[in-house]
Amino acid sequence: MRIAAKLLFHGALAVVNRRSYRFPLAIYVYLSFRCNLNCEYCDSGDGRSFPTRPYDELTVEQWRKLLPLLRRWSDVLLISGGEPLVHADPLGFLRVARESGFAFISLNTNGILLTPELVDAADAIIVSLDSLDREASDRLWNRTGATETVLSRLEELRHRDHPTVMVNCVVLPGRVAEAEAVLDYCLARGLTFSLAPGVRNRRPMPGLADDPAYHKLLDRLILEKRCGRRIAGTVAFLRGIKTFRRYQCHPQLVWRIRPNGDLVYPCSRCDSVIGNLLSVPEPIRLLHAAAGGEFYDPGCGEACPLSCYMDTSLVVTRPMELVREGFYRLRSFPAGHRVMF
Ligand code: SF4
Ligand code: SF4
Repeated sequence: MRIAAKLLFHGALAVVNRRSYRFPLAIYVYLSFRCNLNCEYCDSGDGRSFPTRPYDELTVEQWRKLLPLLRRWSDVLLISGGEPLVHADPLGFLRVARESGFAFISLNTNGILLTPELVDAADAIIVSLDSLDREASDRLWNRTGATETVLSRLEELRHRDHPTVMVNCVVLPGRVAEAEAVLDYCLARGLTFSLAPGVRNRRPMPGLADDPAYHKLLDRLILEKRCGRRIAGTVAFLRGIKTFRRYQCHPQLVWRIRPNGDLVYPCSRCDSVIGNLLSVPEPIRLLHAAAGGEFYDPGCGEACPLSCYMDTSLVVTRPMELVREGFYRLRSFPAGHRVMF
């Protein structure tokens, strides 16, 4: 819940002075841009997929230098990619992250290379699943047998008390029914369901915004959430991706580090590297130099419908949204279960 306390802090600052967002809620590490899948919809922000962007990767020993520095700014670490588990030593990275003092570590993976040791080392696992139709899903991911592997990983995970498990489902134009089937699958198994609209070049894919089935799915998600079912994202976010309304993005709420230690500002979608933390190991100096003291308007003219940007940006300026979210979470999680936030 530390991140919730920080969100409240940011919310309070927002009420009195909407400029002060320089304390990150979380550190987001892209461990590798490589991937063992090749999804049709993969988009790193400019229409290119992650795996087609060659990027050097730091070793665990190099991360051992950086992670304690980053930990000084937040104790929440979000690991993603590409596919983070194709890194040479993802388990070593997770262990160093824990030794560095991160209190909440979330691992976002396609699930193919997940092992029990990796699962034990994280506090939350986010696994991709876009369709229960094995053939259609394998075609979408460009790998035969991948969907069956992911489904068997999820069956293993759902019988464990630790960690929290979330299923991330990308909904594509004309494929809303497949996302709804994944939702039913998650609800039946007590897994948290997260919906991500397909995005291309920072815009929702054409055909989603005006699809009545898509709107109906979002209405259902909001209703399920209010009934205490495990649906990720605030109601404000779910409403936001229903209509793709504009919002003020605050990308600096989550600091993003690329596989080679590059820090980006305002965001990874803008492809704007502002320095490498191996040579300038003080992120705030780089951010000040790039953004000045205000840290308010990224000036990109966009409104990307991605939860990691949109949800944090919406909730930080609407403290009541966070209170409501806390209420839904308390209803949906059994006592003693760690809340993913
Ligand atoms: S699993 Fe993720 S990173 Fe890999 S190809 Fe698919 S969308 Fe891209
Ligand atoms: S809206 Fe946010 S995530 Fe999108 S391009 Fe702008 S700063 Fe980046």
